[in-house]
Amino acid sequence: MTSASASQSDILARLVSGIVGGGIRVVDLTVPLEPATPTIQLPPQFAPSKSFSLEEISRYDERGPAWYWNNIACGEHTGTHFDAPVHWVTGKDYPNNATHNIPVDRFIGPACVIDISQEVAGNPDFLLTQAVVEDWERRHGRIPAHAWVLVRTDWSQRRTAKEFLNIGKDGPHTPGFHPQCVPFLARERDILGVGVETVGTDAGQAATFEPMFPCHTLMHGSNRFGLASLTNLDQLPPTGAVVIAPPLKIVNGSGSPLRVLALVPV
Ligand code: MN
Repeated sequence: MTSASASQSDILARLVSGIVGGGIRVVDLTVPLEPATPTIQLPPQFAPSKSFSLEEISRYDERGPAWYWNNIACGEHTGTHFDAPVHWVTGKDYPNNATHNIPVDRFIGPACVIDISQEVAGNPDFLLTQAVVEDWERRHGRIPAHAWVLVRTDWSQRRTAKEFLNIGKDGPHTPGFHPQCVPFLARERDILGVGVETVGTDAGQAATFEPMFPCHTLMHGSNRFGLASLTNLDQLPPTGAVVIAPPLKIVNGSGSPLRVLALVPV
């Protein structure tokens, strides 16, 4: 064995010893998936998405004496979930743009965590701007290729569906991306995608933006991904964590609920 290949195999040994023996903390960025999990509320002219449901098939009883088993149902975009490029009309023509055929190395990448929780505490409609991202880069370095850009808002600390969805007479009021920030992230940085703590990657008022729903339109239009309803972003450093976010391998799926894990050096 050459020294190069010895050091290559050592990479995984060090990873495992960090996870098992200490040195790497595994942080769960996922919200619980249950009937009460808030789902996005689309305007009434559009088809609605099913909430999560659990239907018991058997539980160590006459229906199945030794086993417990449920049927599950929900929309693909329920709870902590993945948005594939095919989710949006602007991403529909990319090859390998659905949950079953995206190259799997693109589910894992370094996390850049941009903290706008202070701004959002004072303004639920706060939008991440390019200037805020560039200020973050001056402090933490340029967003690297293959990165997940995660926006910490502490929005996931809103525990009730009413507070979390924050729907007013004029629609939802939740933070997101400024329309001019999205092309910067999608086209001038080679990211995997973005992750947010809100019910979707776009701001609550994004139906009124130009373009409408800029994060969906331009991220998926640039063959990049979204992660919504993340939590525990306050446990991540600005850089240095690795995020693992593989969706279910639904054939021709537009997205899926998933478990998102972060590996954090301690
Ligand atoms: Mn979605």
